Amino acid sequence: MPIRVLDPTVAAKIAAGEVVERPASVVKELVENSLDAGATHITVGIQGGGIDLIQVTDDGEGIPVLDLELALERHATSKISHESDLQSITSMGFRGEALPSIAAVSRMVLTSRARGTDQGAYVRVRGGIMERKGAVGCPEGTSVTVQDLFANVPVRRKFLRSAAAEAGRIHTVVTQLALAHPQVRFQLVVNGKESFASPGSGDLRDALAGVYGSDTVDAMLEVSGTDTEGRRTWGYVSPPSTHRANRAAINFYVNRRWVQSRLLLQAVEEAYRGLLMEGRHPVVAMHVDVAPAEVDVNVHPAKREVRFHHEGALFSLVQRAVRETLVAQSPVPLVSPSASASSPMRWGPTPTQEPLPWRDLVPPREQSSTNDLPASLPAALPALRVLGQASGTYIIAEGPGGVYLIDQHAAHERVRYEKVTQQARERQPEVQGLLDPQAVELQPAQIQTLEEWKETLASYGFLGEPFGESTYLLRGVPNGLKDASPEGLLGEVLDLLSQARDPAQASDSVAASIACHSAVRAGDMLSHEEMVALVRQLEGAESPHTCPHGRPTMLHLSANSLEREFGRR
Ligand code: ADP
Ligand code: MG
Repeated sequence: MPIRVLDPTVAAKIAAGEVVERPASVVKELVENSLDAGATHITVGIQGGGIDLIQVTDDGEGIPVLDLELALERHATSKISHESDLQSITSMGFRGEALPSIAAVSRMVLTSRARGTDQGAYVRVRGGIMERKGAVGCPEGTSVTVQDLFANVPVRRKFLRSAAAEAGRIHTVVTQLALAHPQVRFQLVVNGKESFASPGSGDLRDALAGVYGSDTVDAMLEVSGTDTEGRRTWGYVSPPSTHRANRAAINFYVNRRWVQSRLLLQAVEEAYRGLLMEGRHPVVAMHVDVAPAEVDVNVHPAKREVRFHHEGALFSLVQRAVRETLVAQSPVPLVSPSASASSPMRWGPTPTQEPLPWRDLVPPREQSSTNDLPASLPAALPALRVLGQASGTYIIAEGPGGVYLIDQHAAHERVRYEKVTQQARERQPEVQGLLDPQAVELQPAQIQTLEEWKETLASYGFLGEPFGESTYLLRGVPNGLKDASPEGLLGEVLDLLSQARDPAQASDSVAASIACHSAVRAGDMLSHEEMVALVRQLEGAESPHTCPHGRPTMLHLSANSLEREFGRR
C-alpha cells in the first residue's frame, strides 16, 4: 500500500482510543472540564453503564457562543497557550483532546451558555461530523450529552464489560473526583436513581462519608503536615483497628488530581509499619499540594500518573505526617462479643467489613463494624492493675474501661523494640561481650551484606571483625538474647538486611529481630512483679498497642460488652 496521510476522521478515531478507553474515561474528562470551568454543582447521569447515555451538566462559566464549535477541534483549549505553560499546569485539562475524541466515537450534543450572557447555543456531532448547531434557551453552564458510545468502533465496544461493571467504574471515577474536590457538590444518577451524592460542604470528611459510610469515617484520624518549602499534605487515615484486605481504599490526590503513586503509597505503608497486621491495608484519603512546577502531570494521556521533582521531600512529608497522627492517636482494639448469644464469644480485634461487590449499582457502603460499641479507646494506655496470668501467655489486667488481655510476648517485643531502637539511634547499644570470640562461617553474599550494613549492625551491638576470606569473628551481640545463638541471630539479621529497601527498613528489621529474640516467650511463667514491670514498661511505650510486626499487644473487653454478654443490660 502506498503511504497516505490519514483522513482526519480516522486520525481522530485513533487518537480517541488513547483518551477515551471506556465510559468511565468519558465521565472523567467531562467532569474535569466542568471543574476547570469553576463549577460548584456537577450532575452526572448515565444509562446502560454509560454506553447508552452519559450526561454531564455543570453550573460553570460556560462556553461563549462563538467558541462552541472550536471546543470540538483537536488541540483546541482555553487552558494553556505556550509551551512554557506546560511547566506549571493548574487545570485538570490542557491537551484539548477530550471533546473532539469523544465526539469522534459517539453522538454528542454540547450545550452551553456563558456566564453573564442571555443566549445559549448547542452543537450536535455524530462520529466526529457536525450535524446541527443553533441557539437554544438553557441555564448558565454547560451540558454534554454522549450517546451510543463506540457505536462506530465495534472493536472497542467488544472490550467493554457488562453495563453494571462499567457503571461501577463510573461510580469510582465520580467518587474519586468528589474526594478530590470536597467543595463541589456532586451527584451521580444511574438509570434515573441517585447512586452517589456529596454535599459540597468543603469538608473532606463529609465527602468521605458519602463514599465509605459514616461509621468508618467517624473513626478516621485527621492528618496534616507542611514542610519548610511550602509543600502541604492533608487528609484522613484509618486507625490501625480499621483495615481492608486490599489497597482499594487508599487514595491520593496531588493538586486535586486523583493519581496512582507508588511513592505516596510507600510513604503511607511505611507510616503504618508495625501498627497494622501484615497483609492488611488502611483506608486513606490524602491530599498533597505542591507548587505546580514541582509535578509533571503530562506523563500519560489519561493523566493518572504524575512525576515529582522532589520525591524524597514528599515521601518524608507524607510518611511523617501520617506516622505522627497514628502514633499519637491509634487506639486499643476492642474484643468484639458475638452478635448473637448462641454463637461462641469471639476474642479478636474488631473485624472490618470488606466493600461489597457491585450489586444492582448500589454504591458500596460500609456497615457498622462494631454494633453500638465505641469503635475504640483513646490512644494512651490507662494505668492497668495486673490480676494474673492465663495459659502462661496472657497477662490479665484491669483498667477503668474494663478488662485487658495482654500478650506477654508481643508486649515485651514492643518494649524491647523501642529500647533497642533508641539505643541504636544514640549509638549506645547494650552489648553482651563473648568471652570466646566466635568464628562464624559466612557466604560471600552475607559478607557483602555485612560490609554494606556494618554501621547499622554495630549500632545494634553486633561487634567483631572479618577473619580471613569467609569467616567473621563475632566478639559481641545485643544484650538479653533469650533463645537464639549469637551466630544464629547474626545469620537471621544478615538475611533481613539483604532484603532491606532502605536504611530505615534495614534498622527496623534488625530491631524487630533483636526484640523478638530477647522478649519473654509464650509459655514463660511470670511472677506478679515481672508482670507489673512489663505492663509499666508497656504503658511508657510510644506505640503500646501493637508489636513490631503489627500484631496487637492487647485486647480490651469493655465493661459495656461484659454487661451485655451477661444479660445485665
Ligand atoms: P481541554 O480540557 O484539554 O482544554 P477539552 O477538549 O476537554 O480540552 O475541552 C476543550 C475546551 O472546551 C476547553 O479548553 C474549554 O475551553 C471548553 N470546555 C469544555 N468543557 C467545558 C465546560 N464544561 N465548561 C466550560 N468550557 C468547557
Ligand atoms: Mg478537558
